[in-house]
Amino acid sequence: MDRYLEIFVNGYTGYARYLWHEITHPSWHNYFYWLIGVSLVFFVLEVVVPWRKNQPIPRKDFWLDTFYMFFNFFLFSLVVYNAASDVVVHLFNDAIRAVTGGFDLQAVNPMQGWPYWAVLLTGFVLRDFIQWWTHRLLHASDWLWQFHKVHHSVEQMGFAAQLRYHWMENVVYRTIEYVPLALLGVGLYDFFVIHILALTWGHFNHANISVDGRITGGIVGALVGIVLSQSLLDVHLFDGLTAAGQFAVFGASTLAGVFLLGPWMKVIFNSPEMHIWHHSYDLPPDMPKGINFGLTLAIWDYLFGTAYVPWCGRDIRLGFPGVEQFPDDFVRQNLYGIWLKPEEEVRLSPNALPPKAALDEPVRLPVDTTCEVPGRPQDQPPRSTKSDKSPSGIRQETEQPV
Ligand SMILES: [Zn+2]
Ligand SMILES: [Zn+2]
Repeated sequence: MDRYLEIFVNGYTGYARYLWHEITHPSWHNYFYWLIGVSLVFFVLEVVVPWRKNQPIPRKDFWLDTFYMFFNFFLFSLVVYNAASDVVVHLFNDAIRAVTGGFDLQAVNPMQGWPYWAVLLTGFVLRDFIQWWTHRLLHASDWLWQFHKVHHSVEQMGFAAQLRYHWMENVVYRTIEYVPLALLGVGLYDFFVIHILALTWGHFNHANISVDGRITGGIVGALVGIVLSQSLLDVHLFDGLTAAGQFAVFGASTLAGVFLLGPWMKVIFNSPEMHIWHHSYDLPPDMPKGINFGLTLAIWDYLFGTAYVPWCGRDIRLGFPGVEQFPDDFVRQNLYGIWLKPEEEVRLSPNALPPKAALDEPVRLPVDTTCEVPGRPQDQPPRSTKSDKSPSGIRQETEQPV
C-alpha cells in the first residue's frame, strides 16, 4: 500500500513542479502552450470564417468556457491522469501477479515490442472507442446525465465549449478507461501526441466553423506525410531519402488525404456539422437518450446505429428541455447532480425531430455543410410529406414525426 501511496504522492508533487515548469518553459512538448495555441487558432477561424455569421463574438458563456478549459484540461484532467495512470498500471500488474502466482502481464504485453506509431494508433483508437461508450453511458444513465447536462447547457456553440463539463465526468471517464488501458500498459507510454490530437479535434467539433472534408483530409494527409517523410514515431518506410524525395512523399500523402480520405472524412472523423446535432435541444422520438456520441472518431456512431444528421444543423436550437432553468455559473454547475437536482426529468421536447428510423440511408455523403438549400429555412424540417433531394445530393426524409 505504501508503494502505491508513494507513486501517487510522487505523481502529485512531481506534477506541481512540472506545472510550474510548463508555464515558465515554453516548448513543443508543453500542454499549457499547446492548449493556448490550439485555442487561438480556432478563435481566429471562428472570427474570420464563422459558420453562424450572426453569432456574437464573444458568444454567450465564452469566458465561462475559457475558465472550464484550463480547469478541466490542464489542472484537473492532466493532474489526475499523471498521478493515477502509473498507480493503476502498477496496481493492475501487482493484482494480476498475485492472482496468477507471478504472471507478469507487462512482460507478455504484445505492445511492448511494437513500433511507437503502432502503440500510438492502437492507444488512440482504443481510448476513443472506450470514451464513445462512456459518453453513451453518460446519456443512458439518468444519474450520470445530471452531470453531463453541464456540457449540454451550451446554448451558443464555440470551440471552448468542448471542455465545459462537470468535474464528475473526469472521474467517470478516467475510472472506466483506466482498466483496459492499464491492462495494455498504456499509462507507461508518453501519449502527448494523442492528447493534443484529441484536444484539437474536440475544439474543432465544437467550433463555429464548417470545413469541407477535403480540407481536413488534406491536413490529416499532411500530418501523416510529415511522419512518413521525416521517419518519426519509429516509421522507417522512407529512411535515407533526399530532400526532394521527402518532399515527394509529403506531397503524395497530402494529396491522398485530400482526394482519397476527403470524401470519407465526415464518416471516419467527427465534425462540427455532426456534433452540433449531439447538442440539439430536440431529439428524434426513437432516440430519446441522444445521438452522435463520437469524440474524435465518428465511425462508432455509424457502426452502432446512433449517427443522425437529418439536414444542415447550423441554426438548430441547442441545449435540452429545462436548460432555461439550468445554473449558469461554474460553482452551481459543478454542484449540479450532487444536491442540485431537477424536479422531474424530461428528455424529449414537444418538437421531436423526425425518427431515426425514418432516415432510410444510415450513411449520407457528403454532409451538407453549406446550408444553402433554397426555398426553406435551414433550421426547420421541410413541410412536404414526400422525400426530396437537396442540391448537395443529401437525401432528406420529409416525413413528420408521428
Ligand atoms: Zn453528450
Ligand atoms: Zn459537445
